[in-house]
Amino acid sequence: MITQAPRGTQDWYGKDMHKRTVIEKICRDIAKTFNIKEIITPVFEHTVLFQRGVGETTDVVQKEMYTFTDKGDRSITLKPEGTAGAIRAYLEHNLYAIPQPIKLFYVTPAFRYEKPQSGRLRQHHQFGVEIVGSKSPMVEVELIVLVTKIIKELGLKDAKLHINSIGCKDCRQTYNKALLDYLKANEECLCPTCKERMLKNPLRVLDCKEEGCKKIVKDAPRTIEYLDDECKNHFEELKKMLEGLNIPYEVDTGIVRGLDYYTKTVFEFVDSDGFTLCGGGRYDGLVHEIDEKQDIPSAGFGMGIERIIYFLEKEGVELEEESKPSLYVGIMGSEAKVKAYGIVNDLRNKGFIVETDYLDRSVKAQMKYANKIEAKFSVVIGENELESGEVSLKNMENGETNTVKIDEIDKYL
Ligand SMILES: [Zn+2]
Ligand SMILES: [Zn+2]
Repeated sequence: MITQAPRGTQDWYGKDMHKRTVIEKICRDIAKTFNIKEIITPVFEHTVLFQRGVGETTDVVQKEMYTFTDKGDRSITLKPEGTAGAIRAYLEHNLYAIPQPIKLFYVTPAFRYEKPQSGRLRQHHQFGVEIVGSKSPMVEVELIVLVTKIIKELGLKDAKLHINSIGCKDCRQTYNKALLDYLKANEECLCPTCKERMLKNPLRVLDCKEEGCKKIVKDAPRTIEYLDDECKNHFEELKKMLEGLNIPYEVDTGIVRGLDYYTKTVFEFVDSDGFTLCGGGRYDGLVHEIDEKQDIPSAGFGMGIERIIYFLEKEGVELEEESKPSLYVGIMGSEAKVKAYGIVNDLRNKGFIVETDYLDRSVKAQMKYANKIEAKFSVVIGENELESGEVSLKNMENGETNTVKIDEIDKYL
């Protein structure tokens, strides 16, 4: 079994690795144009950070966390999402003491102990952004514009913006009461888990995947009907700005997101089959939840890299291909080896992708290999070439050859 990776994990290599590199580059490059700075936080954190941050009653914390006790008897958890760690870092390093907002992005692995039959990975990767320190709906607009740009740059067309508001803590109190009344009236149709969780956090019943619960949830009261003036205005202003920017959206009162920290805006980019490409929103209570001395608004989103690849494949979008070697340098005779390798390195220093022989193959076998790796040009360097200072440069596509000076090869690549 030692040649098999643990269940729910995957190795990145070949075409998928290249895709991931391109995706991450697009995300990073676009985030940088928004003056968003990269942050890397540890892969593991104290368990309590997620219990407090993500929320005790969420499925993530209750069933899906990779939690273990380390040798120092501390409870440690592999991060199930990117937000809590970024906010913890913001607080630990007093980033609230410098001019706000703080705009951070990250590319991180995230770990969830998913059931194997769900087909979901136990380690997946996320690109995410957090903007901390502003209450304005402009922040959500900024996040949405950013995701829209990334989606466009990737060439995806099927993901549409869905938005909703789940209100602040105050709105949620009124709403939770109405929702609980409704759920209690339909209690006999709920699954055992929901019967229990509706008493602790009725909103979580809305995420339940059980058929019976889904049926009840369909007609449940909606958060949007219970917004106070502040939350209503926030949502109206957000919609107005999106319209002003010609960003199409759909109000989808079914979105509540699976984590406890959301307040006011929640949004998703969803395809026509209901698959979510990206999810995010505002979380004004999260900073306070992690550090009671602070009360700072924040918002953000996360986008799964594997999910992006799934969308690219589904929509038949091809990303730019990985560059092929510009030149293959064949070596003839062991006496020429060191000098030929020197020429390889000179060209690499000039930025060309250059490949050569490491197996002492015959010249014929080397040319076969050059063909296989799709090198654009090839040369063979032996003692004769080194003496004359000239090589025959072969265009591997059309077979044409050209005699060129060794120190001028780069001019022809
Ligand atoms: Zn409110
Ligand atoms: Zn249920």
